[in-house]
Amino acid sequence: MTGIRVYDTLSGDKRTLEPIEPNKIRLYACGVTPYDNSHIGHARCYVAFDIVYRYLKLAGLDVTYVRNFTDVDDKIINRANERGMKAVDLAEENIQAFYRDMDALSIARPDQEPRVSTSMPQIIALIERLIGNGMAYASEGDVYYAVEKFQSYGKLGKRTLEDMQAGARVEVSEKKRHPMDFALWKAAKPGEPAWESPWGQGRPGWHIECSAMSMHAFGPCVDIHCGGQDLIFPHHENEIAQSEGATGQNFVNYWLHNGFVNVDNEKMSKSLGNFFTIKDVLQRYEPQVLRLFMVSTHYRSPINFSDAALDEAADRIAYFYETLRKLDAFLDQAGGVGAPFGPLPGEAFLEEFEARFREAMDEDFNTLRVLGQLAEAFKLANEVLMMRKAKQLPNALAAAKLLREKLAYADTVLQLFGADPADYLDRHKTKAAARRGLSLDWIAEKVGDRLVARSEKNWAEADRVRDELLAAGVVLMDGAQGTDWMVKDVRDAAPAAE
Ligand SMILES: [Zn+2]
Repeated sequence: MTGIRVYDTLSGDKRTLEPIEPNKIRLYACGVTPYDNSHIGHARCYVAFDIVYRYLKLAGLDVTYVRNFTDVDDKIINRANERGMKAVDLAEENIQAFYRDMDALSIARPDQEPRVSTSMPQIIALIERLIGNGMAYASEGDVYYAVEKFQSYGKLGKRTLEDMQAGARVEVSEKKRHPMDFALWKAAKPGEPAWESPWGQGRPGWHIECSAMSMHAFGPCVDIHCGGQDLIFPHHENEIAQSEGATGQNFVNYWLHNGFVNVDNEKMSKSLGNFFTIKDVLQRYEPQVLRLFMVSTHYRSPINFSDAALDEAADRIAYFYETLRKLDAFLDQAGGVGAPFGPLPGEAFLEEFEARFREAMDEDFNTLRVLGQLAEAFKLANEVLMMRKAKQLPNALAAAKLLREKLAYADTVLQLFGADPADYLDRHKTKAAARRGLSLDWIAEKVGDRLVARSEKNWAEADRVRDELLAAGVVLMDGAQGTDWMVKDVRDAAPAAE
């Protein structure tokens, strides 16, 4: 028994996570169909389950994470034909692009990543098993799952066969016994990749792969199976029917589904022109911005993607990194100052940090609460940085060290603070200036003009240039090392205090 409470879609409530095997977690996530670049819906889903994966590991569980690639699919075949290339090559190209996106977002690679094209023996064996126990039937080179044979079909989405039939676009076919029967195997069509099977040349239907791969990796039952809410029907409903229909055992103990991504309060779709790939977004924002944006909403709730929301996340991360840069500089410079005395600044907060983090994450991975905790940590960091009076120096230093440790602990899950602060801030400045349509040369020129005016003691002119920059969103920061600048993404935001 763990102390982690998880919302399970099937039972419809939050339950304490009890692993099948003590201390081990079998985690399966439905992967992508690599026919094109991945979009922000994928970012949402895989960031959400990366947080789950990393947190379960932090909680001391031995997690095995399996995520598939649907590399045999109509969309891949059609797109490959359009581009005059082999389906397998198109899939490989997009799998590599997917890795680039996932790596940029610090999404850990799963332990196993089975592909349909290399899982045919398991898929065919499972279909044979379903035919063998009467749950499926062969029909003119196809094989169909007989949904009426599975008593609890619809239990995940809590709908009857009739409800589902009314709401679904059912492919009418003479080959099927019931309109809702779905294909486990499809007979080969000319010009398509095909594999040898007991039913002739063909390829698997979409749903069977996840049952076959999950059972191959883990046996009949997994602890956690996750995916987007859009997969509940038909994909996950069918996975349950296939797996439980074959083994007679419960397939999944906890079903986790992430909420939809809307764009400017509308459903994201290519036809509405509000469709964003991860690659597009990462050209304009650092990956940490997208990751912070994704964890700013609970994973089960819908999230609303907009430039304004990303700008806000960009400003927030820049503030985090600005604070870290100062904190690191302080830690570098303030060595050998003697032992701290009396209570440290924020001592209670620092002592309780890990426990509070665990408490929030134990409650169905409540990253929102964790972000509240981070806000407190950075507020404390800035207070500590103000304590530069010699008498307070040892205590400030001890608290700064502890803060860095606590943030590193949280970051094993969050993955927001791994970059070098100075490098991050440089990249951020460049991208933030581009987002505002400002050239770095123009900013440098203006900063130079102001320096000249100041050296000539022409304060009116210096202020005028400063205000001109501020109106464009550039905030100047005068320090011991000269003048630095930041671009504020959120318009009319108060200038950063120095
Ligand atoms: Zn799946």
